[in-house]
Amino acid sequence: MESFEALMISKEGEGQKVEWRRMTLDDLMEGDVTVRVTHTTINYKDGLALTGKSPIIRRYPMIPGIDLAGVVAASTHPDFRPGDRVLATGWGLGESHFGGYAGFARLRGEWLVPLPAGFTTANAMAIGTAGFTAMCSVLALEAHGVTPERGPVLVTGASGGVGGVAIAILSRLGYRVVAATGRMGEREYLEGLGASELIDRAELSGPAKPLWREEWVGAIDTAGGDILANVLSRIKYRGTVAACGLAAGMELATTVAPFILRGVTLAGISSVMAPRELRLEAWARLERDLDLKKLESITTTRPLRDVQELAEEILAGRVRGRVVLEVAG
Ligand code: NDP
Repeated sequence: MESFEALMISKEGEGQKVEWRRMTLDDLMEGDVTVRVTHTTINYKDGLALTGKSPIIRRYPMIPGIDLAGVVAASTHPDFRPGDRVLATGWGLGESHFGGYAGFARLRGEWLVPLPAGFTTANAMAIGTAGFTAMCSVLALEAHGVTPERGPVLVTGASGGVGGVAIAILSRLGYRVVAATGRMGEREYLEGLGASELIDRAELSGPAKPLWREEWVGAIDTAGGDILANVLSRIKYRGTVAACGLAAGMELATTVAPFILRGVTLAGISSVMAPRELRLEAWARLERDLDLKKLESITTTRPLRDVQELAEEILAGRVRGRVVLEVAG
């Protein structure tokens, strides 16, 4: 039987042990589709799982990796046949069901999205949960009536994965994009993606005033904490903030002023259990609205073997854009 390499995390005392193991298809979990994984990626959440800094993993031992893309090897699901190119993000992959850091994955067909024709499996993982979340955030802004004509849109955590894809999509859609970053030295990179203006994220830190001058009609916030509170105070009348991240913190010390005096909407974005229809819509929009050249410009490719080193780097805020991990055959 075919054997393959997998990264396995097991519980060890109060901590966890992370090691490479050889596995066979019999070692995989239940599911009606088996996928030969060709590419995966690292998201902030994968960094938390690999280092054990947050309780992401809900069942041990676990193969981490919340995203994967590859080719169907076997299927009893009516929608998928061997040879089909597919991707999966979230649904508990790498948390409660064996994830993408392995040569093969077995999972439920309902979790799979057929690869859009314009993408390779590497493109799909350059996008990954981060890019999918960016697209869901854009869809939320649109659903609440944010349009390029109404004014600029702010993206926080601009040099990160969600931020980079969000800037690329919004600029292609004709928005004036303001990038908030802690890395002002990345001006050239961020302008190349389509940011018209940069602001230092320090400007958005510290306790927020209930209301401040109205600046942006929309925002995609990957930071949370004081940054989100400050963003809310500066959103224009009837604007919308898509809140998707917590890079600056979980807390949110705000007031009702932006909501009841300016009619601001705070739209929550949650990618993990996103329903299938939303996934299909978001991936179709990514195919239409994300410039592959820009995606390439934010993407670094590394072997899966480097993932533990990358976990430390992503948590330290040192990874720029997105990383595609190649899974050895
Ligand atoms: P990255 O690590 O790639 O990017 C995060 C960016 O946030 C960094 O690049 C940095 O950008 C900024 N940042 C880092 N530390 C801080 C800090 N202390 N205060 C403010 N900003 C900071 O992560 P992702 O883009 O993959 O994810 C971004 C966030 O979104 C994470 O919190 C992640 O957990 C969350 N997320 C949520 C999802 C959902 O379903 N809701 C799905 C995917 C991600 P810069 O240097 O430019 O300031």
